[in-house]
Amino acid sequence: MGIPQYFSATSTEARQKFLEAARTAGAALESHVNPNARGAEGEELAADVARFGGMEAENLFIVVSGTHGNEGFCGSGCQTGFIGDGVIDARPQSVAVLMIHAINPYGFSHIRRVTEDNVDLNRNFRDFSTPLPENPRYAEIHDLLLPSDWDGPGRATADSALKAWREANGGMKAYQAAVAGGQYVFPDGLFFGGRKPTWSNGAFRAIVRKHGAGAKRVGVIDIHSGLGPMGYGEPLSIIPPGAPAFERARAWWGDAVTSTADGTSKSPPVTGPLIGSIEESLPGAEVTAIGLEYGTIELPELLDALRGDNWLYARGITSGLSLDSALARDIKAKVRDALYVDTDEWKEKVYARAADFALKAFRGLSA
Ligand SMILES: [Zn+2]
Repeated sequence: MGIPQYFSATSTEARQKFLEAARTAGAALESHVNPNARGAEGEELAADVARFGGMEAENLFIVVSGTHGNEGFCGSGCQTGFIGDGVIDARPQSVAVLMIHAINPYGFSHIRRVTEDNVDLNRNFRDFSTPLPENPRYAEIHDLLLPSDWDGPGRATADSALKAWREANGGMKAYQAAVAGGQYVFPDGLFFGGRKPTWSNGAFRAIVRKHGAGAKRVGVIDIHSGLGPMGYGEPLSIIPPGAPAFERARAWWGDAVTSTADGTSKSPPVTGPLIGSIEESLPGAEVTAIGLEYGTIELPELLDALRGDNWLYARGITSGLSLDSALARDIKAKVRDALYVDTDEWKEKVYARAADFALKAFRGLSA
C-alpha cells in the first residue's frame, strides 16, 4: 500500500482505516464515545484507542492525533501508516505503543480546530481552580476578529483596523501571539481555552492514567499541522532548554527540537497544552513529550482561515447562514486546506518524518 493511501478524505474514512488496520494487527481496542455532540453527517463521535503490547510494559510510546480536530487528517494518516507500514512491528519488546486516534472527534468530523464547545483543546489542560491567564492583547482585537459580515463592509473595516493594530504592536509575530496564545474570556472567540475541562480533556486523562499506570518511561508525540514551512515537521517541546525533559527530547529526537518556552518554536508559548497534562496523570513516570507540528500554508492565510471558521459558527450560522451556502462552503474549504495539504508529496514527507520520530522514540525508551 502506498503511503498516501493511509490518509483519508473524511473523518469517517479515517476512523474506518485506523480501526481496520489496528484490528488486523491484533491491537487491543477501545472507543470513547463523546455523548455531547454528533458528527457532521449525524454519526457517532468517538476517540479510538489501540494498544500494542501488554499492560505490564515498563516503556510506553503514545501517539495522539486530532487534538485540533481536523489536524487529524495529518495525524490519523501517520498512525494508520505506523500500523500498516511496519513501524509498530519494529518496536523493542520492552515497549508498548498506545495510539489515541481523534481525541477531538467533533472537530475532525466538522472540519474545525475546536471542540463541540468552541474550546481549543490544546489550551484546555490547566487547573481551572486557579486564576485563569490573561491575554489583554487578544481582548483588544476580539471584536475585529469577529466582524458583522465576512464578505462586506464590516470585514473590510475590521481588516483595516487589524492592519493598523499589527503596525502599532509589533507585526505578525505579535498578532500571532495575541490571537493564538490562548484566551479564557471570550467563549465565542478564537483559541478559547474554556472555563472547565472539556469532554476530550477528561477522556484523554482517563486513557493516559489507565494505560500508563504500569509505565516507568513514557514517550509522547502529539501530531499537529498548520505552522511552519510546508511539509516540514517541527518537533516542539513545552519545556525550557536545560530542564531534563527538554534535554531528553533533544537526545532522542535531535537538535531540531525547539521550545515554545524560549521563542525557538514557530508556536507561541501556549497555556494549557495537552502534553503538559501527562506528568500530572502519571506522577511516577519519566515523561518525554513533543508536539510534532507540520507546516501547511503561510501564517497570515492560516490565521485568516481559522478566523473565518470561527466567524461562520459564531456569527454566520447563528444569523441564519446555511452551511450549504457558497460562503460557508468557501470558508470550510479554506479551513480544511489550512491544516491539511492534500497532495501525495506532502503526505509522503509527513509520514517519513513521523515514522523516523517513532523509531527514535523506541530507541530512546529502550536505551
Ligand atoms: Zn494543532
